[in-house]
Amino acid sequence: PDRSIMTLLDHLNPPQKLAAEHRDGPLLILAGAGSGKTRVITYRIAKLIMDYGVYPEQILALTFTNKAAGEMRERVDAILSENGRETDAAGVTIATFHSFCARLLRRNAELLGLTPSFTIYDSDDQLKLIKAVMEQVGMPKDNGEAKRLRGAIGQFKNQGWTPALAHENAFNSYDEEDATFYEAYQKALVQANCADFGDLILGVITIFRTHPRIADSYSRHWRYQMVDEFQDTNPAQYALLKFLTRTHDNLCVVGDDDQAIYRWRGATVANIMGFEEDFPDAKIIKLEQNYRSTEVILKAANDVIQHNPTRRDKTLWTAREGGDLVTCFTARDDREEASYVARQIHDLTRLGADWGDFAVFYRTNAQSRQIEEQLQNGGVPYQVIGGMSFYERSEIKDILGYLKVALNPDNPVDFLRIINTPSRGIGKVSLGKLERVAEIRGVGTFYRALRYAAGMLEAGALGDTPIVPEPFGPDDEEALEALQKLGGRSKKGMIDACEVVVALRDQIGADAADGNSLSQVANFLVERIHYMDYLDRDDPERAEDRRNNVVELLHALEEFEEDFDPDQLLNEDLPGQGEDDEAPDFDGESEPTVVSQILRAFLERSALVHATDGMEEGRTTTLMTVHGAKGLEFDTVFLVGMEDELFPSLRDMSDIEELHEERRLAYVAITRARHKLYITNAQSRRIYGQIRQTEPSRFLRDIDPERIEIDPKSTSQSIEYGHRASAPNRRRVRDRGYDEFQQASDANYFGDGVDQDLWEFDQSPPMIKGEVGRAVQQTLDAAPPE
Ligand code: ATP
Ligand code: MG
Repeated sequence: PDRSIMTLLDHLNPPQKLAAEHRDGPLLILAGAGSGKTRVITYRIAKLIMDYGVYPEQILALTFTNKAAGEMRERVDAILSENGRETDAAGVTIATFHSFCARLLRRNAELLGLTPSFTIYDSDDQLKLIKAVMEQVGMPKDNGEAKRLRGAIGQFKNQGWTPALAHENAFNSYDEEDATFYEAYQKALVQANCADFGDLILGVITIFRTHPRIADSYSRHWRYQMVDEFQDTNPAQYALLKFLTRTHDNLCVVGDDDQAIYRWRGATVANIMGFEEDFPDAKIIKLEQNYRSTEVILKAANDVIQHNPTRRDKTLWTAREGGDLVTCFTARDDREEASYVARQIHDLTRLGADWGDFAVFYRTNAQSRQIEEQLQNGGVPYQVIGGMSFYERSEIKDILGYLKVALNPDNPVDFLRIINTPSRGIGKVSLGKLERVAEIRGVGTFYRALRYAAGMLEAGALGDTPIVPEPFGPDDEEALEALQKLGGRSKKGMIDACEVVVALRDQIGADAADGNSLSQVANFLVERIHYMDYLDRDDPERAEDRRNNVVELLHALEEFEEDFDPDQLLNEDLPGQGEDDEAPDFDGESEPTVVSQILRAFLERSALVHATDGMEEGRTTTLMTVHGAKGLEFDTVFLVGMEDELFPSLRDMSDIEELHEERRLAYVAITRARHKLYITNAQSRRIYGQIRQTEPSRFLRDIDPERIEIDPKSTSQSIEYGHRASAPNRRRVRDRGYDEFQQASDANYFGDGVDQDLWEFDQSPPMIKGEVGRAVQQTLDAAPPE
């Protein structure tokens, strides 16, 4: 084993090796971009397992995206198998902060008044609940205010503050008011058996604060802990790490203060300082060799970042001397800019580059539309990272909404989503009655009221449990009276909705031994509510796509179920059980069935999908925001929209810290490039429907002109535009299947007068977006560019 480990660490330079060999005690790796920080973590995990006899189960590595976590696991697996290890990294806990905390929270949900089946709310759901609470406490309806409150609550949670702590830390009466609202919101969340993203972390640290012995048991379990991108942790996450290292100090964090770009999410580089104070014996290792980029790119990045005043001193060098100059292009407007990017990629692939070698980074998602259109025109296949995800589509939210209600019927947001979808004649009036019934009967949630109401309306119709309480009392009479005023359709609708939910609950509550499966439950649902017919009626134009999405979801459920190993979840060997009276209880509900376990796991995964999850390596050009690009690398990078007020985007001109953060963001963008960097700007740009004249970004002026070549095409004479398909038309095209796309794009080339010389129309396959086109896309990708 010693010999193999020698070769293992031979893949590292001396300081990297030092870090990977470090065994016990705190370790801080502070180094610039591309210096191998992430690589060191993976090698250190392998080293711990192979040479120090640490069990994989004792290792915890935390990241910020599922993609980063997945890549890390793959890397460790590869290193282990290259070195002849049979064991893989499966036992190692490699997770995002959020999924890790969701897991701990499920095990200890009762301590927060939740059940292990609690629902995770996304920011949309959150907004709905906030509005409901606003109404409850008598605040006027106001979308802007609801969003502001969502932000404020998020920041409280980022700080690790419960409502009580938010009160304690309030500066003024405004803070007080927010804290009071936070308290009401939190109460509603618990009553609904739900948690929002911020709660995942706050919930766990709240449990650790009140039950330190639970923290101890987890801390003993994960003896070796590692965190990538430490500069982006917020105080709540840092508090979590401190709890997890209560019984030892084997915490290794890696980060780069120059790449801190999540201040707006409450992250603070102060955590790096905090780390050195909290772990005074920490070994500090600096990595100085950049393996990613050429000298030109690295120096350009440095030109920019050195204008930030309070940085850690860092040197970064690369053995890849020289390199292509940074190409700058100034376009007349944003369309010409996009067309330049498309043209460049098109030409370079002709010379042998792959589409997958390119990435286009922009500051805001809205910039992607122009680029997409031009890439389509140029026949460059691309993927857009971010934007609306599969799980944000309304048809997906509907079906999952039913399943979420089945698992956790007390959740009002999903309940209200499904109760009248497809329409059952249950409108505001009926919901008002339900609320009234809830009041009369003293039951807290819509679902409970519905069950009661449906039972009253048709006693016995629901089979299993007798719902009308015996004997019939005055309360019941009052409730019945309220309900009887409803129209026939609503009455039927209520009975129907209740039947559906009860049937779903029965099914997920039945054992797999009865031949039951999650995909059967989902199929039953889609048929039982005639969902496909509903889609046809609801929006005939888009029905086919939406039906396909539902089918895709059913596939996803089936696949997930096939891959799911119930033993792993049910017998998972986590600490806490039965160790002392404070020990977390495993799944406090009545014995969860396999189906409900799988559903829970599936819903959790879908709630925690991240923008970069679906990203495919190597096949297509990647379009993403700079934030999304963190930690990634590409051969050629186009950094577009380098204009003042866009990048840096100064929301608050008086906030100098914000300018610094924008500069770090530019540094992140530049340092993603391996070989070649393009920077573009447009002299005029359409923003929110208005055409504005722009100034080149101040960051551009920071770069030493020696490293730049101006593209001679920068003067905007050579490109001629025809009129183009209108945007709504185009959008529809993008959502459709392949044939229509083809027709439409042909029309663009031949009918709309786009200069054909520009694109040398060559049958290059167009990019097809959406699940429908995936199969077609794969075939197209298989054919090499000429
Ligand atoms: P970032 O700050 O962007 O997160 P990082 O410090 O995490 O970057 P890595 O992503 O780990 O850097 O490494 C950057 C690139 O350099 C990767 O392609 C990696 O494989 C390569 N690399 C790192 N160290 C070495 C080494 N010792 N020998 C060869 N290649 C290396
Ligand atoms: Mg990294």
